[in-house]
Amino acid sequence: MTISTVCVYCGASDKIAKKYKTTAKKVGAGLAKRNLGVVYGGSSVGLMGIVADAALEENGHVIGIIPSHILSTEVRHNGLSELHIVQSMHERKKMMETLSDVFVILPGGLGTLDEAFEILTWKKLKLHDKTIIFFNQDDYWTPLLKLIDKTVSEGFASADDENMFNVVTDTKSLFTLIDSYNI
Ligand code: AMP
Repeated sequence: MTISTVCVYCGASDKIAKKYKTTAKKVGAGLAKRNLGVVYGGSSVGLMGIVADAALEENGHVIGIIPSHILSTEVRHNGLSELHIVQSMHERKKMMETLSDVFVILPGGLGTLDEAFEILTWKKLKLHDKTIIFFNQDDYWTPLLKLIDKTVSEGFASADDENMFNVVTDTKSLFTLIDSYNI
């Protein structure tokens, strides 16, 4: 399997520890260095802006998708290779899915959770069969992963559901996994 675009879901908040920003920068730069296009929410703030800027600095192709109704609260990035302004959150998520081969979930807030679960449940419903990767930096996603374990152990989900995604803990393992798709 070869891949050409990677969607990055991540937080839009700036009030976060530097370590998350450092990782987001490495992720954006690493994708661009591999000639992989970056698809994301089109914002210039938080980890979202950092991923985009880092990829652009490495001459990467960055595609942002932002709904018109949040343009007043979420500052759009004006230097992207492509910026698509869409009508709704649903359209944004659908377009992000259509344009991407792999999904990476960096630390984030409620918006990131929503995006993560939508792409997971679409996979469960066989609407796509693309790779989904949780970037579990410093155990950020561990409580969530434990909850998913519990959905399985309590019988609300099947063990197969846990095979729908990969978990990496650092940029080295992220890029080892991503590189394994392009051999
Ligand atoms: P957050 O993780 O809350 O910082 O949000 C990250 C991104 O997710 C931001 O660009 C939000 O606009 C976006 N977001 C929030 N809610 C939704 C939603 N329901 N559908 C799509 N994107 C969303």
